[in-house]
Amino acid sequence: MRTPLIDLRGIRKSYGGGDSPLVNVLRGIDLSIHAGEFVAIVGASGSGKSTLMNILGCLDRPTSGEYLFAGENVAELGSDELAWLRREAFGFVFQGYHLIPSGSAQENVEMPAIYAGTPAAERHARAAALLDRLGLASRTGNRPHQLSGGQQQRVSIARALMNGGHIILADEPTGALDSHSGAEVMTLLDELASQGHVVILITHDREVAARAKRVIEISDGLVISDTANDRSTPPADNPGALQAVDLRKRLSEGSGSHSAWQGELLDAVQAAWRVMWINRFRTALTLLGIVIGVASVVVMLAVGEGSKRQVMAQMSSFGSNIIYLNGKAPNPRAPKGVISLEEVAALGELPEVKMIMPVNGGQAGVRYGNVDHSSYVGGNDTHFPAIFNWPVVEGSYFSEADEQNAAAVAVIGYKVRQKLFGEHTDPVGQYILIENVPFQVVGVLQEKGATSGDLDSDNHIAIPYSSASIRLFGTQDPEYITIATRDANNVKQAEQSIRNLLQQLHHGKQDYELTNNAAMIQAEARTQNTLSLMLGSIAAISLLVGGIGVMNIMLMTVRERTREIGIRMATGARQSDILRQFLTEAVMLSVVGGLAGIVLALGMGAALLLSKVAVAFTLPAVAGAFACALITGVIFGFMPARKAARLDPVAALTSE
Ligand code: ADP
Ligand code: MG
Repeated sequence: MRTPLIDLRGIRKSYGGGDSPLVNVLRGIDLSIHAGEFVAIVGASGSGKSTLMNILGCLDRPTSGEYLFAGENVAELGSDELAWLRREAFGFVFQGYHLIPSGSAQENVEMPAIYAGTPAAERHARAAALLDRLGLASRTGNRPHQLSGGQQQRVSIARALMNGGHIILADEPTGALDSHSGAEVMTLLDELASQGHVVILITHDREVAARAKRVIEISDGLVISDTANDRSTPPADNPGALQAVDLRKRLSEGSGSHSAWQGELLDAVQAAWRVMWINRFRTALTLLGIVIGVASVVVMLAVGEGSKRQVMAQMSSFGSNIIYLNGKAPNPRAPKGVISLEEVAALGELPEVKMIMPVNGGQAGVRYGNVDHSSYVGGNDTHFPAIFNWPVVEGSYFSEADEQNAAAVAVIGYKVRQKLFGEHTDPVGQYILIENVPFQVVGVLQEKGATSGDLDSDNHIAIPYSSASIRLFGTQDPEYITIATRDANNVKQAEQSIRNLLQQLHHGKQDYELTNNAAMIQAEARTQNTLSLMLGSIAAISLLVGGIGVMNIMLMTVRERTREIGIRMATGARQSDILRQFLTEAVMLSVVGGLAGIVLALGMGAALLLSKVAVAFTLPAVAGAFACALITGVIFGFMPARKAARLDPVAALTSE
């Protein structure tokens, strides 16, 4: 004898136990159904018909008893194989249609084929053909709420047939329909049966049941009668009937193997977009966290980077080849070391040294007319503009002759000019008092821009070294020495030569110290980086809050769409498909939030630039913030997605 397609042996199903009362719904069902049969299961409401159908369709597992499908024990199949059976072997038609409300008729019909991995073109064509065959050619783009009950039921029949629908499980398919639509649906099922589909029709209506070739009556969880209507050819001889062996072969070959992620991804992205769009206000509100998080991370990093670049540019505008040499006390009780002008001359002979300039300076009170000001006054020499790359913009720098004559002349910085002379007076030729000694202004230095810290390079007055020594500070010794090396890339080596020479000159006494601009720039960069990092991590906290928003919206979505998840499972989605779909939605949310955040950040950056704040957007910062948003989405979307994937199909289907 041939293997039956479906073979139930002593199937029992009970609910409850524990806290709630134990209900034995099915109490030992024995039943076999062969290929090509058209069976009606009748029984009063509450007799356990739907429960039986859920077990037949592998949506639910029996409490005890054996279910052999095409000879395979269903209890031994994994969840992916069960999904394969639901997808490839069964086609469900429910009393309540169970269409996905946000999808069009066409999309609803295509869904099982997406999970089966059918190529898009083939899928579209087949869905359109099925809808056409069921008289819905003009309704393919309509969503369920735009269709009548009869039309919705025909869409659900088309969906059941999408992957072949060898076994149509119809649970009260006419229950919600008027008699005319009901008759149409019955005619359709009749046709399908005669084409070789196994049709298992569940109904409480004997008249409807009479259209089947075999009527099984259940009452109180037991089969009480099983009669064949004598009006047909023996079922096994139907040429279209798919035999148990074929299905078993395909089950062992096909289940779970080819995943359909490309088609699904597109479907998931479309579905995610639609859901977001339908709930756009809520979505926008919840995404605010991610948007603000990304925007603040990007802006903070851009501001940090901007100020870093500004500071670095200013510092390196003095030249990165500059070394400063200072006298230093070798120990706390000893006097500060002195580098004499003779030693300066000796250092100037070193091959690595391009220019050397002693500076004798200090803070001093300055006055012009009745304006008082305090600024740094440095006695130096004519190398100054070249060493610091700092030209004079009005008048000229003092000359060698001024230096030899210890002339009372001064070149003033931009800030000093602003303070003492304002916009309208020409300072060149005017006399100012430095510590009550009159000096004539001969030039004005170009503006450098404010540096960080309290040192303002534009609040500077340069006078000849000799004048500073004689007229102001009363000492010949330099305060510090500025050395420009020949090669900006070899400051280290120049520093070493200077050290070696000083070692000899000072007989090994460490009463001096060397610093260089490059090292200072590096140190400054480090501080600025730490600052940016700190700002960035504060902003990252708002990303975290954003992630919680994503989780919240995903949990709501899963709750609201539990039925949809059940429908997807009934049409053959694997757990991994559901997981992937909801993860895709979470990622979509974060992508949209992240992009919106970047746009917002660019807008804020533009506004900051207009208000003269240095901003520098860098690709790594923007990409990093976006990646953080994505990762946040995945992490916080995972829990809700897994929750969705682990739903029990029957519980999900029957949820409100
Ligand atoms: P039918 O489809 O024949 O009307 P059902 O199979 O839906 O009947 O239900 C049979 C019985 O099982 C009913 O008495 C119902 O209350 C009970 N039942 C169904 N599902 C559950 C459940 N999840 N928990 C407890 N009882 C249930
Ligand atoms: Mg029912």
